[in-house]
Amino acid sequence: MSQPGVMAETVKSRANLALNDDFLRKAVKFTTERLRNGKKAASEEHGNWEEWRERGRQIRLHTIAHLDYYLNEFVNNARANGVHIHFADTSAEAASIALDIAVHKEAATVVKSKSMVSEEVHLNQVLESAGIEAIETDLGEYIIQLAGEAPSHIVIPAIHKNRYQIAELLSEEAGEVLEPDTTVLAGFVRKKLREKFLEADIGLTGCNFAIAETGSMVLFENEGNARMVSTVPKTQITLMGMERIIPSWADLEVMATLLPRSATGQKLTMYMSGITGPRRQADVDGPEEMHIIIVDNGRSLQLGDPEFQELLNCIRCGACLNACPVYRHIGGHAYGGTYSGPIGAVLTPALNGNIDEWNDIASASSLCGACYEACPVKIPLHDMLVYLRRRKVEEGHGNRFETMGMKGFAAVVASSKRFTTALRLGQIGQKAVVRNNGISLKLGPLKGWNAYRVAPGLAKKSFRQQWESLDHEVSQQHAVMDSSIRERMQQIIREREEGD
Ligand code: SF4
Repeated sequence: MSQPGVMAETVKSRANLALNDDFLRKAVKFTTERLRNGKKAASEEHGNWEEWRERGRQIRLHTIAHLDYYLNEFVNNARANGVHIHFADTSAEAASIALDIAVHKEAATVVKSKSMVSEEVHLNQVLESAGIEAIETDLGEYIIQLAGEAPSHIVIPAIHKNRYQIAELLSEEAGEVLEPDTTVLAGFVRKKLREKFLEADIGLTGCNFAIAETGSMVLFENEGNARMVSTVPKTQITLMGMERIIPSWADLEVMATLLPRSATGQKLTMYMSGITGPRRQADVDGPEEMHIIIVDNGRSLQLGDPEFQELLNCIRCGACLNACPVYRHIGGHAYGGTYSGPIGAVLTPALNGNIDEWNDIASASSLCGACYEACPVKIPLHDMLVYLRRRKVEEGHGNRFETMGMKGFAAVVASSKRFTTALRLGQIGQKAVVRNNGISLKLGPLKGWNAYRVAPGLAKKSFRQQWESLDHEVSQQHAVMDSSIRERMQQIIREREEGD
């Protein structure tokens, strides 16, 4: 599931590349901020957002707990609608089923709407190696296809590119210089892709939700390209992860409320298509033949796993990426897998199952929990990241120095005496390196942190020391109060005695 074309080998080295790319950082920051603000405004305007989140979570928990039942219901109904259903255990199998269909149809061109599963199974490469042209028709996907890159965001694949870079790519494709103006650029792509829609033999889509009760699939999009892909070519292939199921159209109401608001801050995307089988006699358009490939590729490994099953609840809205302080600095390619951000940091090792290959990806998080707060179905990604880190250490993949450091830290904080002594030694020792309350030394464990910010020094007086002096001050005040009360009492007694 790793990205083709990623050069650097570790999260750290890939993150360093991103951190030194000013264009990337500005572009990612600009768009994630816009998406985050849009989501905030849309959820506030909607009202009762927390209740809808909880409802969404309950629907996903229920569906995944009964996935066998709903998958079976979906498959039976889709078959009754005339859809050919295929099951793929692995990514290679999924790509090979799609290729077989394309070869059988003697297809020369496949037009694709956005599908993260097709990225996951590297379908474009497989089709192209068989001499079949695969064209992305989502604008962002088209741009990164021209750039030879993988998506950098689940919802906005070309988030890391600005309009000047995009104009350069499209100008090369156009064979003429195109102005870096969004209307000009979008106009060129629209014209180019329209020809491709008309000549394509196969349309390939992803699937946002699959409705078990009618065997239908639902697509959310803004550009209308998925509607073209699913209506113009004679054959349609849909790639869907096996967890995309929801029980009913009534459940879609909740998901249709959560997904667009969380993804882009929209009340609803410009287009929402429900597709129930191929074209029927009275239909004016639609494919004559329809195939759905249901992909496992590591998903069933999460079923029954108390730590990871909730991963299958994800509706791929991307809100956790926009909220994540790490993603917002380094973008998606630094994660190295198809899925990036907090969801990618957990999903990639979970689906891949190979902790050796992905043992550093769980470190790309500050564990602040912003991803959980943003998630419309309340997936506790921060807990999963901690679990992954624990598993990494337990399986012997931890950093030796980090492990020693943690053991030392545990020994110190377990004893009040040792903690106080260590604190006092630290306060004295840091005097040589603290300037303006901060340590900017780029040495040892501080090297990485201080490359981009200044580490705060230990406070001159710790909380405990402040507490102790406050306690002392209060007792002194009490003592003063006690003595004045005592004096007053004695005076009253004396006055009474004199009066007697
Ligand atoms: S984990 Fe939650 S926030 Fe992140 S993509 Fe999935 S549903 Fe959206």
